[in-house]
Amino acid sequence: MLKGKTALVTGSTSGIGLGIAKALAKEGANIVMNGFGDIEGSQAEVAALGVKVAYHGADMSKPAEIEAMMAFAAAQFGQVDILVNNAGIQHVARIENFPVERWDAIIAINLSSAFHATRLALPAMQAADNGKGWGRIINVASIHGLVGSAEKSAYVAAKHGVVGLTKVTALENATTGVTCNAICPGWVLTPLVQKQVDAKALAQGISMAEATKQLLGEKEPSLQFTTPEELGALAVFFCSPAGVNVRGVAWNMDGGWTAQ
Ligand code: NAD
Repeated sequence: MLKGKTALVTGSTSGIGLGIAKALAKEGANIVMNGFGDIEGSQAEVAALGVKVAYHGADMSKPAEIEAMMAFAAAQFGQVDILVNNAGIQHVARIENFPVERWDAIIAINLSSAFHATRLALPAMQAADNGKGWGRIINVASIHGLVGSAEKSAYVAAKHGVVGLTKVTALENATTGVTCNAICPGWVLTPLVQKQVDAKALAQGISMAEATKQLLGEKEPSLQFTTPEELGALAVFFCSPAGVNVRGVAWNMDGGWTAQ
């Protein structure tokens, strides 16, 4: 379905971003990857799906590096048709104890990077398909873009901001073939969440299994993690012809978290 298209997925070296990159690659899209950690291993996983893969190591907290990444993607594949703003970090502390540099980093990586990548991707998307426009911008927000949780001030503020940015991007392009939507996962067992499970186990002197059960039990009635594969399937739907009039939604996959 996406043969000939190019998708740029920020923070795609692990977790949700890697899951979405693989789902889009399975549909034939060439992939521009980004992120830190296991760069070679993650690239190999996507390349094994038979598509072209490129990598750019932009630090998403730095606007100049985001500009370089977008120029690199255009030089590699002509243009970015699908932009997935996914890179994100977390820090957990009460507001009065929240390190100022962690606040700044979370706002830069989880919110401002989506603005920068979007503003740079839009002109080519708007010009595509003989000026009618074709593009898909998918912002990986979070259930914390819709509700709050204690000790996550920067993350919750950034993710609510991402949901707002999603709506405005969708509205400004509503008469074109460029859509923008947000995905709002509940708990997904990725390195980002594993750190929170580890901290809980350590703080309470309980096993990992017990800490995981508590984590899910506090928020998710389904008592199940959402998987990167499930989130990848939702991203593919947004890119499909059936997704053309889905504009500005914040779609939760949260095991019932926000239904309560
Ligand atoms: P993860 O830690 O597995 O992945 C984060 C990715 O972002 C990695 O590729 C990492 O290298 C990259 N990254 C971090 N800082 C970066 C920077 N400065 N520049 C470039 N890349 C950077 O975590 P994940 O859980 O897959 O998170 C992906 C997104 O999903 C985040 O935006 C997160 O907020 C969101 N999310 C996660 C959950 C969850 O339960 N795991 C739930 C809701 C939303």
